[in-house]
Amino acid sequence: MSRICVIGAGIVGCATAYQLARAGHRVTLVDERSAPGMLTSAANGAQLSYAYVEPFASPATLRALPKLLLSRASPVRFRLRADWRQWAWGARFLMACRKTQVQRATRQLLELARSSRETLDDWMRTEAWQFSFARNGKLVLCPDTATLRRQEAQVRLQASFGSEQSVVGRSECLAIEPALSGSAAPFVGGVWTPGECVADPRLLCGELVRSLRSLGGTTLFGERVEALRRKGSAIAAVRTSASEVSADAFVLAAGPQAARLASTFGLHLPIYPIRGYSLTLGFRGERRPKVSVTHLGQKTVYAPVGGMLRVAGMAEIDGYENTVLQARATTLARSLEELYPGVCNLEPNSPWSGLRPATPTSLPIIRAVPGTNLIINAGHGGLGLTLAAGSAKLVEQLVAGHISSEV
Ligand SMILES: Cc1cc2nc3c(=O)[nH]c(=O)nc-3n(C[C@H](O)[C@H](O)[C@H](O)COP(=O)(O)OP(=O)(O)OC[C@H]3O[C@@H](n4cnc5c(N)ncnc54)[C@H](O)[C@@H]3O)c2cc1C
Repeated sequence: MSRICVIGAGIVGCATAYQLARAGHRVTLVDERSAPGMLTSAANGAQLSYAYVEPFASPATLRALPKLLLSRASPVRFRLRADWRQWAWGARFLMACRKTQVQRATRQLLELARSSRETLDDWMRTEAWQFSFARNGKLVLCPDTATLRRQEAQVRLQASFGSEQSVVGRSECLAIEPALSGSAAPFVGGVWTPGECVADPRLLCGELVRSLRSLGGTTLFGERVEALRRKGSAIAAVRTSASEVSADAFVLAAGPQAARLASTFGLHLPIYPIRGYSLTLGFRGERRPKVSVTHLGQKTVYAPVGGMLRVAGMAEIDGYENTVLQARATTLARSLEELYPGVCNLEPNSPWSGLRPATPTSLPIIRAVPGTNLIINAGHGGLGLTLAAGSAKLVEQLVAGHISSEV
């Protein structure tokens, strides 16, 4: 049994702390916020997207980039910052758009997603958690035939890695999700993945922390980690705004802030924030979506979760600023009204924004830093809710010395 300090109580840190406590370690979880899951894991798209893991960097993204960056209505925005980390990240992103790299990353992400599904199922067998979990399937809608053809190729690739998905026509889409019948958003067909799930990320963080405490774990909320105190090549303790925490090993799970904290230890992590937005809305009447939907034309995801509809999208590479731009929230509401006209109450509406901790390849960084007692578990981009449980399992194996490499 070791003493382990986990830095960051987003979905990745909470899952890691819980899994380590289950394995018998003495865990301390530290976060600068007053409660778990208050940053990127607060109100994300709510999709456990186990089969839909295609990296953001791809040949298709590269081809679409000029249009995506130049159009005012585009969901993707890039603002050049006087920050070499943004430039280095951008260069590596362009390199990651190669087909062979995309295939390699897809295979690794599917493997991690499979382990995540198994691990979460395992946890749910022993815990009576309430986190609006549902296995309701996901439909990815294609606005035109060219997009559908590309998706067919992706489905074929993923089938060779074991994913169960089918390509469906427009009428099958309507049969799967009747709430689409009034849709004004174009779609010619899509990809149906019946095994996909939804969950409320903040509720799951809360449940993980409750179970962590009942396993004897300690939580320090409202304490900002300010420095990692060295002893030789190892970390002896972390100094927080209120205390000092010593441990045998440290796990850095600080999401979009991981790169900044790692740099105080002399490490460069290729993680850069990509801002996105969400709305969480109630329904007006009986016509309610049952399944998760992603519309590839709008680049927007819709998840029925906890009796509400979570609508999420946008990708802004614009530094660490995280204020909600009202115009972007209005664009999301417009997309919703196009896909599901009259289905939701647009008020009350508190738009949310979060910074995806993105790596150029979309692969998270899960590895022990050689010669130290530091483990990185960060960079989960747009899939942190999906991949948190499997990542936690990998960290447990790293701590146990069963594996030595990364994802
Ligand atoms: C619009 C949007 C939609 C998304 N939709 C989905 C989806 O449908 N499915 C999916 O799987 N993923 C989705 N994601 C991605 C997912 O939200 C992220 O990958 C995930 O939340 C990252 O979790 P994390 O724990 O790494 O980071 P965070 O949740 O940001 O947690 C990091 C924690 O570290 C703490 N911290 C940072 N610095 C310090 C410090 N110095 N001291 C102490 N504490 C510190 C922070 O307070 C925070 O609580 C979406 C993201 C966005 C923005």
